Amino acid sequence: MSLLLSACTSAAPPHLIDLTYPFAEDTIYWPMNKPFTWEKTAWGTTQGGYWYTSAMFSTSEHGGTHLDAPIHFGENRRAVDQIPVEDLMARAVVLDVRAACRTNPDYELSVDDLTAWEARHGRIPTGAVVFMLSGWGAKWPDRSAYLGSATPDNPRTLHFPGFSARAADYLVTQRAIRGVGIDTASIDPGRSQDFPVHRIVNGANAYGLENVAALDQLPAVGATVMALPMKIKGGTGAPVRIVGLVP
Ligand SMILES: [Zn+2]
Repeated sequence: MSLLLSACTSAAPPHLIDLTYPFAEDTIYWPMNKPFTWEKTAWGTTQGGYWYTSAMFSTSEHGGTHLDAPIHFGENRRAVDQIPVEDLMARAVVLDVRAACRTNPDYELSVDDLTAWEARHGRIPTGAVVFMLSGWGAKWPDRSAYLGSATPDNPRTLHFPGFSARAADYLVTQRAIRGVGIDTASIDPGRSQDFPVHRIVNGANAYGLENVAALDQLPAVGATVMALPMKIKGGTGAPVRIVGLVP
């Protein structure tokens, strides 16, 4: 709770940033996952003269701004409802690799990127959530541009940046992070077919945050994030509301 206290008891209240895309018809989902649907079941003035609305929605776990629970790629690891709530609040670290991604849509964040960041900003704190800022958020919600393919329903044709397996390994073994996040559809690069970053991160009981919005508004260091997923019992992932608290 010290993070929450320090975020809330400093002289000025923190500036809040909503790092979440809305869920709607055009929300981008992983290929072959059913998209988000929302249907009004009641909408208007009732016979009793008062206003009443209600609706229903359905969604795949892995679409829009969502959390990947450790059980997604880690056998016997935590499901969404088993992640302790204190793990869902963490110091945020942002690695801006937009320049490299601009010239290479298959760019993979490297261990060199991590050590260069640490030389400038200090050691990545234990228990942090480490965000990769690729710049891909500017392409949202253009599905073909964002997934880097003229055939975005074919997962073998995707191109967008992601973490390298070595960087993921460094973060979980050398820095004991709580999770990683990215402004693309996957923490693995789009062309990956065997998802080593997911396997390493989830295997270490850490979580992923994908399709993170407005990541360019978070500072490289100093912010706190709260990432609160829908508490689906046994869930492999869930829609998540992510809020950045910037002092
Ligand atoms: Zn996912």
